[in-house]
Amino acid sequence: MAGYDYDLFVIGGGSGGVRAARVAASLGKRVAIAEEYRYGGTCVIRGCVPKKLYVYASQFPEHFTDAAGYGWTVPEASFDWSTLVANKDKEIARLEAIYKRNVEGAGGETFHSRAVLVDRHAVYLTAEDRTVTADQILIATGGRPAPHPALSGHEYCIFSNEAFDLKQLPKAIMIEGGGYIAVEFANIFHGLGVETTLVYRGQEILSRFDTDLRRSLHETMEKKGIRILCHAVSEWVRKNPDGRLDVLLSGGQTLTVDQVMLAIGRIPNTENMGLEGVGVELGKTGAIVVDQYSRTNIDNIWAIGDVTHRVQLTPVAIYEAMCFIETAFKGNPTAPDHDTIATAVFSQPEIGTVGLSEDEAVKRFPDIEVYRASFRPMRHTLSGRDEKMLMKLVVNGASRKVLGAHILGPDAGEMAQLLGIPLKAGLTKDDFDRTMAVHPTAAEELVTMYKPTYRVKNGERV
Ligand code: NDP
Repeated sequence: MAGYDYDLFVIGGGSGGVRAARVAASLGKRVAIAEEYRYGGTCVIRGCVPKKLYVYASQFPEHFTDAAGYGWTVPEASFDWSTLVANKDKEIARLEAIYKRNVEGAGGETFHSRAVLVDRHAVYLTAEDRTVTADQILIATGGRPAPHPALSGHEYCIFSNEAFDLKQLPKAIMIEGGGYIAVEFANIFHGLGVETTLVYRGQEILSRFDTDLRRSLHETMEKKGIRILCHAVSEWVRKNPDGRLDVLLSGGQTLTVDQVMLAIGRIPNTENMGLEGVGVELGKTGAIVVDQYSRTNIDNIWAIGDVTHRVQLTPVAIYEAMCFIETAFKGNPTAPDHDTIATAVFSQPEIGTVGLSEDEAVKRFPDIEVYRASFRPMRHTLSGRDEKMLMKLVVNGASRKVLGAHILGPDAGEMAQLLGIPLKAGLTKDDFDRTMAVHPTAAEELVTMYKPTYRVKNGERV
């Protein structure tokens, strides 16, 4: 080990890479990390963090309206996009500095450079024009929005990266895709006053979620004024002389908008990094293939986070980083457990979910109990907002184990985090039933739905 410059070299300064570098350095390892763009990675710079800030920004018009029922008179509000962008920039610059400082504070060395593998122990730093060596190498280069070269006029389209920093807020936008990003941004743009159309190729948005939530969210978004076109894709995008864009949809309809945003998934960043030369195995999508411990086919090279295409979520990358540290530096081989991951979609209303959807549960178990409550949350009583909250528990009738918990409504993401614990622990519906409610909350419904709304036996609803 002493023959190398470092014990660990990390490529990629996002959530996963920074966590691994910081913790390894704090263990006394000689650590360096290279980031070619900005420390913090997708999550901090152009993902979760700015997205959530924009979600907050986009919710104010509804708060202003809702305030009337509580006795408030709010003068006519106006919105300045450039103030939001500038304040967001300030906040992410602050976080970026913290990310970098955390590694350095733990004793790690940070480089601002692209890093390319030269051999299994050597990395070339392009900005420094030199090669350094390391005993262990961790690749955490993340991913980027999937391009859409088959779409004629794709060069006129933007992705989530650009959406954060548009020079001006469009009057009308079309968003293609029905996943997390498309749905979250449709709500953000709509909330900020943009005429928004969501175009999704499938039958219902958010294909990986519980059908009840998908339908209810769809209805609520449409009620707010977001146009959702399912079973549709764009055929071409053309630019008009005035700069606006025409989009032809598969059904023959044409839309004219100021921006077209593509949110059709994300792909791993594995090109031009020397991976092929060193012989690191890549999968069909270009993602790095790893074993259960995040080790590639080259035994001193590891990979975590979105570059491995397991589950594309920040906390998963961080968890994989912690498991990597246990395995590589603490002599305690630890495989990240990707089962039962709680997640939220910051749509409006929010989705919070953990475990199996009803459809998945029905496929796996012969006897399923569904507990379902749909109600107007208390905050919408005086406001008069016509929006329902939906809560659903999916229970294995035989074992009583709660298999899935699904929420649509205010603070659903916060609730999903807490529901992640009992579901991960494998608790039963009886454990939920003997838990005292917290009153008055919306979440109390989760422990007061005593009777199943229906059962599904061998695929038949009874
Ligand atoms: P998703 O995988 O969530 O959704 C991609 C969407 O694009 C799907 O609706 C998919 O349709 C559709 N699609 C795929 N290819 C095409 C195509 N060629 N033409 C038209 N539509 C297409 O990806 P996102 O880009 O929304 O987000 C990437 C990942 O980032 C997410 O999976 C998630 O893991 C993470 N993320 C998490 C967030 C959170 O935790 N809140 C927020 C944002 C992102 P179909 O359903 O038919 O496959």
